[in-house]
Amino acid sequence: MRIDRFLSHMNVASRKELKSLFKAGRVRVDGTVVKDAKFKVASATMVYVDDEPVRYQTYFYWLMNKPAGVVSATTDPQKTVLDLLKDADRRDDLFPVGRLDKDTTGLLLLTNNGALSHALLSPKKHVSKVYRATIAGVVTADDQARFEAGLVLGDFKAQPAQLDILNVDIAQQESQITVEIHEGKFHQVKRMFHAVGKEVLTLERIKMGPLELPDDLKRGQYRALTETEVTLLK
Ligand code: URA
Repeated sequence: MRIDRFLSHMNVASRKELKSLFKAGRVRVDGTVVKDAKFKVASATMVYVDDEPVRYQTYFYWLMNKPAGVVSATTDPQKTVLDLLKDADRRDDLFPVGRLDKDTTGLLLLTNNGALSHALLSPKKHVSKVYRATIAGVVTADDQARFEAGLVLGDFKAQPAQLDILNVDIAQQESQITVEIHEGKFHQVKRMFHAVGKEVLTLERIKMGPLELPDDLKRGQYRALTETEVTLLK
């Protein structure tokens, strides 16, 4: 690939700034200054800018704790999850893997790896997702049994879902639960509770496949996946 594409993919500088970097002789390959933006390099080539090595990375993976009030989309008139990324971490081809509702918080993966996203979202793969939620009313053993039997949501029968009751506050008439589902239909968790006559008050995703929402990742924050996490996803 062209060295200017290599450097712009790695967000080293804007296209305009890159021109002046080349002109000023600040880009080197194998100890030789490269002034030609069309110079060809491989992804494994060690390119230096101002003596700092720039390693090429094809795919990027950001694990975000999505806050409420932002939409899981690449472009939208409203604020998107991509708008939460720092300039240095942005890439034109990044997108969220699946969607969380605007008011849902928690684990959201952002990547530019389309094949991986496809595999994670494929209905055939049944990648599990775990949500923690506050439900209006008292969640019962009967609700658990109905989730376990597979709820019918319109023309769709959900896979058996494990509903665990963490706490029931009789005075407040609220229940804390976790639920594990194996598909990702639109508003699925909210619709499942609706099917048993209950309303979801807050919803947070805490797991997706092998990924877990880290305790120390605050809402609105994100971090790169570790190499182990990337390997687990494949
Ligand atoms: N289920 C929902 O209802 N909403 C989400 O955002 C995710 C799962």
